[in-house]
Order: sequence, then structure tokens, then C-alpha cells
Amino acid sequence: MASALVLTTACTSEKQDVQPANNWSVDRFADIEVLRYEVPAFEQLSLQQKTLVYYLTEAALWGRDILWDQNCKYNLAIRNLCEAVYQNYQGDKADPQWKAFEQYMKQIWFANGIHHHYSNAKFQPGFTQEWFDSQLSALPEELAVELSAKCNGLEGIDAAMFDSTCLRIKTNQADGVDLIQTSANNYYGEGVTQQEVENYYAKLKNPKDQTPVMFGLNSKMVKENGKLVEKTYKVGGLYGAAIGKIVENLELAAPYAENVQQKKVIADLIQYYRRGDLKDFDTYSIDWVKDLQSKVDFINGFIESYGDPLGLRGAWEGMVNFKDSANTARTEIVSANAQWFEDHSPIDDRFRKPVVKGVTAKVITAAILAGDSYPSTPIGINLPNSNWIRAQHGSKSVSIDNITAAYDAAAAGNGFGEEFMWSDEEVQRAKQYAHYVDNIHTDLHECLGHGSGQLLPGVDPDALKAYGSTLEEARADIFALYYMADPKLVELGVMPNTEAYKAGYYQQMMNGLMTQLVRIIPGDNLEEAHMRNRALIAYWTLERAKQDEGTPALEFARKDGKTYVRINDYDKLRQYFGELLGELQRIKSEGDFEAGRKLVETYGVKVDPELHAEVLARYKKLNIAPYKGFVNPRYELVKDAEGNIMDVKIIYGSETYPEQMLRYGRQYSAL
Ligand code: ZN
Repeated sequence: MASALVLTTACTSEKQDVQPANNWSVDRFADIEVLRYEVPAFEQLSLQQKTLVYYLTEAALWGRDILWDQNCKYNLAIRNLCEAVYQNYQGDKADPQWKAFEQYMKQIWFANGIHHHYSNAKFQPGFTQEWFDSQLSALPEELAVELSAKCNGLEGIDAAMFDSTCLRIKTNQADGVDLIQTSANNYYGEGVTQQEVENYYAKLKNPKDQTPVMFGLNSKMVKENGKLVEKTYKVGGLYGAAIGKIVENLELAAPYAENVQQKKVIADLIQYYRRGDLKDFDTYSIDWVKDLQSKVDFINGFIESYGDPLGLRGAWEGMVNFKDSANTARTEIVSANAQWFEDHSPIDDRFRKPVVKGVTAKVITAAILAGDSYPSTPIGINLPNSNWIRAQHGSKSVSIDNITAAYDAAAAGNGFGEEFMWSDEEVQRAKQYAHYVDNIHTDLHECLGHGSGQLLPGVDPDALKAYGSTLEEARADIFALYYMADPKLVELGVMPNTEAYKAGYYQQMMNGLMTQLVRIIPGDNLEEAHMRNRALIAYWTLERAKQDEGTPALEFARKDGKTYVRINDYDKLRQYFGELLGELQRIKSEGDFEAGRKLVETYGVKVDPELHAEVLARYKKLNIAPYKGFVNPRYELVKDAEGNIMDVKIIYGSETYPEQMLRYGRQYSAL
């Protein structure tokens, strides 16, 4: 999995900082922090829109157990057993066995199963099998009978929980082994081999088909009488009981659709869930891409295939959202001025686009996170995944502002800025502007950066080969950095003043030079394209500033035995960013592989082991969780005496993380 934060495009926006802790925080265990998020402007939706959100939300929550079962066939049984113990425990809560069990329970809730959501490794319980068995035997008779019925002859639950040698990896990506046989997920049945599956789909695929369906997306593959069979996820098929509840709620939502197109989207999805035909899914996806007028939007289905080592089968995912009009207006202003930015870009005239079109991205507010997007969630989404649909009909690109706002609010006060920033001036500026400037950076990067500039005639678009994606991300990032400081943005009303950008400059330099190193382990080089590009920009600029007379514009400085990044001259820094933008554009336009390779290898790969060790030690003291996720708000229908819907109420903070998980388990279990 490239990044848990992001879905499928070549360019993905991911959260850069590695922060949180305070009243946005609702739970903290192992390497996880659970936050809450707000849904601003929900009250301003019309009653029709709110009701639509309500039923779509229900449709989203009913998919939860599908994902649990997809992740591993033991997951639901283990969850049932653990929840029974969790709720019936009478013993001492200071007992280390209980403490370890409580952590395990929270971990599997968060991961939607017994494997870590990001690393894919199986959790190893810190309590003994004897302790767990004794808790099970102490359960009330009736509950024990019910549980054993639910486990329904499933063998090997003990080993799944306690034997560290079995089911070790949820999705194995290692080279040279059978990826299906060595993966613990439930996308393939017993005895199915990678070779067989590859042969099966090779036969199905017609190279001449211009509009191929996404084979395997909505089924489990099993072997019956020695033959491979697809068990389709649909009403009346595999996961039929849960899918039936999803359909039921989609049908309740349909009358509240905002327009004809949206009504069609919902009807398409229902048809697809009923028939399980992937052609229906394509029809749905095309209609979904065309639905640009609706305020409310949603994702509901088998979407991302990172969980299948062969990248075919889709994990069930749900999200309901609505357009954030104020923030979308900002991206539209940026897009509408695309030509001005292109004309004023500090690049050679030959590399400039005579006519440039900005891409409009939508900013959304998430109303519910579900399935593969819950509790850990992306902050940006670009769908659909079908290549030909993207090429012929386009895609929707969104960023989820209330989620990034929650991350940022939680981060303020976790001590990260105080630990790593040079002085209080930078800390205060970050508190005031960081969230805002982050968003502007994303707009400039996504809406303009990638689309600016042109190749010289005859230059191969793949000339930069393996360095292409790092250099392309660096080009879009440096474009954003250069323009972030432009007075034009203040003039357009996009930036509040000529100070705010400094928060972005400092954050980017500190991150690229130092703090992003908390994400890798000692001895490793930088591998991931986004991390490489940030290091490239920061270290190139640091080197460039060494030519300054007197105090350099950017430098490492020491204080109380610690290393810090110092920016002494923001104007000059912007000038250097302009130079680097010119060079990165030249490399791309001319396809100068050698220069590109040199830039990446010199500035973007190597890690100073001493600085790395220092950063890790300082970060560790802050006790900041490397992974975050969210609890959802609750929605409630308000009805009058005749049963008419009068309002939809949104409720925050009424339940803890365990309470939400237990309620979902009670209310939305069909499997
Ligand atoms: Zn990008």
C-alpha cells in the first residue's frame, strides 16, 4: 500500500505532519490516536439534503462487516468473542492481562480485523490464551451458546489469535512467493494459487476491448471441484444480507435525491448491488462522475484494491459528504486565474503553455466515514479507478477539509511545534495560518502545478523514468511554494495577508530537512516519492543559500544542544524557489534524465544518520501517535406525531470510541 491516506491517482495529497493530542483526541492506545471531527454547516443543509445524508449514512454503516470479513475470515468471529469478554469482564481492571486485552480489542476495532491497518502485520496479543479461555468460560450460558452458533464450525480461531506463525500478513507484497497463499485476507478460498488466478483473468481479458470492466472487483474467488469460481458480492450472493440492508437504505435515500442525475446514480448502484454485474458498476461510475450539480455526494461500494495482493478485488468502502462551498470557491478562484500564473511563472518561455486550463477540485465536508475509510481515512480522493472511464468521462478530485481541520486542531498543543520550531514566532505563525496555508498549497499544487508548462516537441513523456514521479511532485510543490508568497494571492482574496505564507515556507523547510524523518527507521534511505521531493526541495535550497553573503537565507542552527531550521530571509527563499522551479521545468520540458537523476540522488535520497537519530529521539519524547483515525458523529431523525421527518439532528461526543464500536457491532451486523 503506497499510502493509507490516499486513494488512487498518480498524484496524491497526503497529510505531511505527523502530529496530535488534546480535546479533539478521544482515545490513545498502541500506535494509534482516535480523534473526532466536526461537520460544519450541516445545519445549513435543507431538510431534503439532511434526510438524504441520513439514509446514505445508514447505507454506509451497513457495509462495515463486509470489510471485516474481506480482511480475514476469522475477523468477525474473533470480534464477537472479544466483545463478549470486553462487555462481561468482572475482574480487576488494573490486571495486566486485562490491560493487554483492552488494547488488543481497540487495535482490532481500529484495523477492522486482526492485522494492522497500515503495516498489514498480525497483532500479537499481550494476554495469554489461558486467560482468554478462562474469560470465555465465565460468560453467561446463553451468550456462550449464541457465540458458538455464530462461530459456526469455523476452525482455527485460537491459532488465528495466538499462533504468531500463522496468518502473519494480511496482504503480502513480497517478491518470489505465492502472494495469495501467503496472504491472510479472505479474497481467495482454500487452495487457490496465484498462477491459477493470473491464468483465469488472462483468459478473460480481451486486449481489443476499449471499455473493459474491472475484473474481479466484486467477488471472492474459490475452488470448487478443482475449478475456479467467482462468488459475487450481491443481493442473494456473498454478503447478500449486508448488501440487502445497504440497498434498503439506498431506496429510502432515493426520494430525497437533489436532482434527476443523482437519482440515476442511486438507481444505478442499486441495480449493480442486485445483479452484481460489473458493467452496471461502470454505468454507475460514469453517472457518478457526471453528477456535478448535487451538494451531497457519496461513495458506497467495492472501491480500492490495495488489500488484494493481485490488485483486483475491491475493499468495501463508504463515505457521505457535501460540498464545502466557501472553500470550493477558493479553489475556483485559483483555477480561474490559471493563465495569469502560467504567464508569470519563472520558467523559460519555450516551456510555457500558451493556453492553460486550471483543474477545479472540490472541497468537501465528510458526514460519515465507513468501511475501508473508517476509522483511518484519506484526506483526498480521486475516483473512479477505471482507466478508460477516467480518460473518457473524467474523474472527481476532492479534498476533505473537516478531516484536515481536525488533524490540525488536534496537532495544535501536542508540543510538536514547540519542540522542533526555532522560536515562538514560528510556533505562533503556524497556529494562526498553518491549516489555511496548507489548503492553499494543495490548491496550487493540484489545480495549477501539475498542469503548468509543456514538453518541447518530440520529448518522450517518460524520459525521466523512475525519477519521473519524484520530479513531477517536486515541480508541482515548488510551483505552489513559489506562488504562495505572491501578492497576487492577497489581491485575489485567497491569502489573508503577506505574512501567512511564511508559515507554509517554514513548515515545508522544517519537514523536508528534518521532521519527515520520523516516518522512517534508522538506516533507511528515503524511498517514497513525496518524501523524496520534499527533501529535494529543502536540501537544494539549503545548498543554494550557502552562496549567500553574510547570514544565509536558510540554515541549520543549534540551540541548547538541539538542531533547528532557521529561515533568515523569506524573500530570498522565494527567489531560490523560483530558480528551482525554472530548473525542474527545464528538466521536464527537455526530458533531461541525467540532470533529474542527479537532483534526486544528491538531495532527495540520503539521510544524515546523526540528524535522523536526534529527530527520532526528540519525537519519541512527545509520545505522538504515528497513526490517526476518527469516531463518527451520530445522526438522528426527528419525527412529528404522524411520523413525518421534521429534522435530522447531528450529535457529537455522546459516545466514547469503544461505545461507538460496540454500537456499530449491535446495530449494523448482518453477516
Ligand atoms: Zn501532486
